[in-house]
Amino acid sequence: MAEGGKLRLLMDLDGVLYRGDAALPGVVEFFEWARARGHAYMLVTNNSVRTQSEVAAKLGAIGLRVEPEQIVTSAVATVEWLRTQAPHGARVQVLGGSGLMQAMFSPGSPFIPDWQWPEWLAVGQDLDITYQKLAGACLAVQRGARVVLTNPDTSLPTELGLTPGAGAWSAVITLVTGATPVVIGKPEPGILEMALRLLPPQGDVVVVGDRLDTDILAGKRLGARTVLVLTGVSTREEAESGAIKPDYIFEDLPQMIEMWERGTA
Ligand SMILES: [Mg+2]
Repeated sequence: MAEGGKLRLLMDLDGVLYRGDAALPGVVEFFEWARARGHAYMLVTNNSVRTQSEVAAKLGAIGLRVEPEQIVTSAVATVEWLRTQAPHGARVQVLGGSGLMQAMFSPGSPFIPDWQWPEWLAVGQDLDITYQKLAGACLAVQRGARVVLTNPDTSLPTELGLTPGAGAWSAVITLVTGATPVVIGKPEPGILEMALRLLPPQGDVVVVGDRLDTDILAGKRLGARTVLVLTGVSTREEAESGAIKPDYIFEDLPQMIEMWERGTA
């Protein structure tokens, strides 16, 4: 990594900046360091449940001041992608939470909600999933709706174990209808490309994440340098023995900053 060079950092959130509701070590110092060194950054999350403002508020609660515009959620990336497919609007059904719903149908959005004859079905994490919602989504697909999926995560880790994610709902729809979704979130690189377009054009691109199969793989597909921090899901053993190899592995953000400052990363 060029010493003294400016970086463009694409940071994951859960497992990198916080875990649950608690800030991870060194996260305040990380933002101070990035600002002091003039490194640009965007926060990129596969989470589609929260709006950008809600994510900013969550970060604010742990002492981090980040503008909503510096956050790209998979919901926002999905809507941006859909704009490239249907720039003049389309009828869209959403199976997902308020983050996706608000991103899709906010004032000024070209998209029209339609739960009967949608052209597109947008699927994200839905914490209030019901049989009726899943059935409605499957029926929409059989009436011709194409499927776009915010993120492929089939499971989400919690303190008690794995719980279903957006990819699980999408898998149900695929099982029932045979439809294959277009996938937006990590490990697809599109969400990172969208975040990069919002940053200055200069500087080495570095993707920082806690999951090999999403963050690091997406970073590699983007052609960026990749940093795995061990404060989340993936372990050092998995990184060293698996097929997806990050460029750097750090215990946490303080170690990442220290190595950069010493020029050893
Ligand atoms: Mg994460």
